[in-house]
Amino acid sequence: MDARNTSIDDLRAAVSCAVITEGDAHYDDARRVWNGMIDRRPAVIVRCLGPEDVMCAVRFAGAQGLPVAIRGGGHNVAGHAVCEGGVMIDLSEMRGVEVDPDRRIARVEGGALWKDVDSATQVHGLATPGGLISDTGVAGLTLSGGIGWLRAKHGLCIDCLSAAEVVTADGSLVRASADENPDLLWALKGGGGNFGVVVGFEFDLFPMGPEVMFAAPIYPLSAGPEPIRFWRDFVSRHADVIGTLCEFSTADGEDFPEEYRGQKVFALACVYNGDAAEGETLLQPLRELGPMAADFSGIMKYVDVQQLFDTLMPAGEFRCYWKARYLKDLPDGMIDQAIANAAAAPSPNTLSSLWCMGGAVAKVPAEATALGDRSMGWMYSLDGVWSDPADDDANVTWARKGWEGSATYDHEGRIYLNFPGHGEDNRELTKRAFGPNYARLSAIKAKYDPGNLFRLNQNIAPAE
Ligand code: FAD
Repeated sequence: MDARNTSIDDLRAAVSCAVITEGDAHYDDARRVWNGMIDRRPAVIVRCLGPEDVMCAVRFAGAQGLPVAIRGGGHNVAGHAVCEGGVMIDLSEMRGVEVDPDRRIARVEGGALWKDVDSATQVHGLATPGGLISDTGVAGLTLSGGIGWLRAKHGLCIDCLSAAEVVTADGSLVRASADENPDLLWALKGGGGNFGVVVGFEFDLFPMGPEVMFAAPIYPLSAGPEPIRFWRDFVSRHADVIGTLCEFSTADGEDFPEEYRGQKVFALACVYNGDAAEGETLLQPLRELGPMAADFSGIMKYVDVQQLFDTLMPAGEFRCYWKARYLKDLPDGMIDQAIANAAAAPSPNTLSSLWCMGGAVAKVPAEATALGDRSMGWMYSLDGVWSDPADDDANVTWARKGWEGSATYDHEGRIYLNFPGHGEDNRELTKRAFGPNYARLSAIKAKYDPGNLFRLNQNIAPAE
């Protein structure tokens, strides 16, 4: 389609999918994203069914000079999937997953969710690292790194990404692989949505499950730092087989004995990346660190583990502000700070977590992927989650204060770009997050998107 001087009617005629504008019955549903705080009104939402629709939408936006938002799973907390007044390229109908069990490859459409990938791959006893919540988008999570349970043995999502099909800013479809446009594949491994619309991903698969050992002993926050210090030292010795985080939350629901309901707690949550029975034995000491508020541990199906946390985070219901930073290591002072921040969280829906990195994540050299240096041992994330708009200030202030306070323990000021707050400090922090890789990314951006059409993201400026 030649989009010069074309109207939305011409766009409608060119694509095979729905083109939704204000006044259409589905407009409000289509513009809604996971964070209930985000309320933006795109001029046009193109609900693509395949690469050709995406190509038309990109050419249309480029020719009209309209801002572009790309919607994968819609989970970005800054709301980068939806724009004010521009073109929202919505991939939510493109969720196909094709598995080649012999070559151990999954081909995944650009709008797929992790549950689509997990269910299709587990039929063959295979998996690729995903995130912790099954309805997060594969695209956004992968393109900025992707941290999940399987990272101990198999690394980040980008470490298993072998190829991609991308619609670039001029509306053409290109392949990125080791043989074709390897610079683009490198940039997609951490560089976010800067380089085009990824309509297809190819991931390497590994044998997994069907059952895995999931450990989740829950201790009251009043137990203090000792169990967390034990966990830190224990998992550090097994970082290549235990995918783990210490998650602070508020005990809620009938799964907890009455005396603990409403109390602040922490879970030492782990997935053993190997034989389930072996994992059960290895992880047992984490379940013997004092009186527990609950213990959700057990051998269970990998697909079920991938959905365990879903109910904590229903789409569209909450207002959210999330920040994270990488930590060099996890000294006692940082643990004390994490406990104090958890105690001060103003909302019972809020979570905060200490994530162990290391293992296979740390084995990838800084220059091998756009993400950069992997020597951070840990990550600290603060996920402010609340319901009432009147509480916005208190919750955003809590998350920012905790995040700023943890700077003492940071890893060269680098942040995880998938937890971007509301994007307010994107410019400075994005550059720092990539470190020495930024200049190379900027040159690749200039090659594939010289006009910075794809800028509603953790933006990389095209090199002059
Ligand atoms: P979207 O909002 O749809 O997209 C975000 C951005 O990604 C877009 O603006 C665009 O820049 C880019 N993008 C999306 N699709 C495409 C595409 N097809 N082509 C090119 N660019 C695209 N992160 C982790 O690492 N591990 C976790 O376990 C984890 N858990 C989470 C749980 C919840 C409940 C939430 C809300 C977030 C979680 N995250 C996690 C963070 C998550 O990785 C980011 O929110 C990510 O942006 C979500 O991707 P998405 O496709 O759903 O997002």
